[in-house]
Amino acid sequence: MKPETIAIHAGERPDKAYGAISVPIYQTSTFAFEKVGKTRGYDYSRTANPTRRVLEETIAQLEGGKAAFAFATGMAAEATTIHLLKTGDHVICGDDVYGGTYRLFQDVMSNFGLEFTFLRMDNSDMIKKAIKPNTKILWLETPSNPLLNIIDLEMIADIARKHNLLTVIDNTFASPYFLKPIEYGIDLVVHSTTKYLNGHCDVVGGAVVTTTDELTERIGFLSNALGTCASPFDSWLVLRGIETLPVRMKRHEENAFGIASYLAGHPAVKKVFYPGLKSHPGHEIARRQMTGFGGVVSFEMNRGNTAVNAFLSKVKILSLAESLGGVASLVEHPASMSHASMPKEVREKVGISDQLIRLSVGLENVDDLIDDLSQALGSA
Ligand SMILES: *Cc1c(COP(=O)(O)O)cnc(C)c1O
Repeated sequence: MKPETIAIHAGERPDKAYGAISVPIYQTSTFAFEKVGKTRGYDYSRTANPTRRVLEETIAQLEGGKAAFAFATGMAAEATTIHLLKTGDHVICGDDVYGGTYRLFQDVMSNFGLEFTFLRMDNSDMIKKAIKPNTKILWLETPSNPLLNIIDLEMIADIARKHNLLTVIDNTFASPYFLKPIEYGIDLVVHSTTKYLNGHCDVVGGAVVTTTDELTERIGFLSNALGTCASPFDSWLVLRGIETLPVRMKRHEENAFGIASYLAGHPAVKKVFYPGLKSHPGHEIARRQMTGFGGVVSFEMNRGNTAVNAFLSKVKILSLAESLGGVASLVEHPASMSHASMPKEVREKVGISDQLIRLSVGLENVDDLIDDLSQALGSA
């Protein structure tokens, strides 16, 4: 089935009990046994829940994976995944990952004896040089946040196969509508479903997609053992959002293209980061491995901090807010917001300057968005 159909029909739909077209919210902690020693498929909602199960089957099919698990947040999905490791293991992680991922690894998991090396993941020699006998995982994002760097996933999967490493891709930015990492040999896909999969800024959620029986068993075990799973209501909200993922992603991309092209010609803009632009260093790889370029556009202003602040306070339709992937357009300042948990030296090393601005382009009329950016930039 194609994504448009999977998004609406995957899993047990209509519902088996009464034929409900909208997946029922099984708002229950526990389930009555049919008889001693026999359940009706569910016993306790931490372990499994019918609403969550439909969401998990939908995400698994969209990604082309073996199975999926839904979590309370994207960070819960990541925290659960990193528990595949044990003390002494080493992870090579992209140096431009989500700020919260960096914080989880550097400030939490390293206290438990896990080792992390943060690296630009676009150079295979650098990755190979960083591999140690205890290296277990290559973890990265493509397109990355907030610079939209593109990594060649076949190159990553190839290194991983030769060195017997697991690969984890955070596919939040592209969504499975534009990128299916498993097709390129990636082992695990993680998501913040808070973003495009839900798409309406009304829930936080996460997901992990597996590719083997062993990984399915392990992630399922960890989700139940750690208790990081998504609630029935949150699962339902994400499910409802996913039904329109394909139409939303197309429009996000159309609007993002319009805005990226507009910004590229603006005198207050030094540089635009959007993989759909030919000038983007990852454009060729993105064209090859993705079916679209997404809805996030970042740009650097060639003005001082006062002008950047003026721009951020003048936007009207776009809201100054963290997060991304919703129907409403948002603007944020990585250095003081999403990436504030990353030390300034690290931020500067990876190219996140104080002049960098990230837009999550929503589904409004693109001319209205451009007018809004224009009046805010004009006064900057
Ligand atoms: C938001 C985000 C996360 C974290 O997800 P939460 O749902 O906020 O916990 C992880 N990775 C990326 C790329 C994100 O954008």
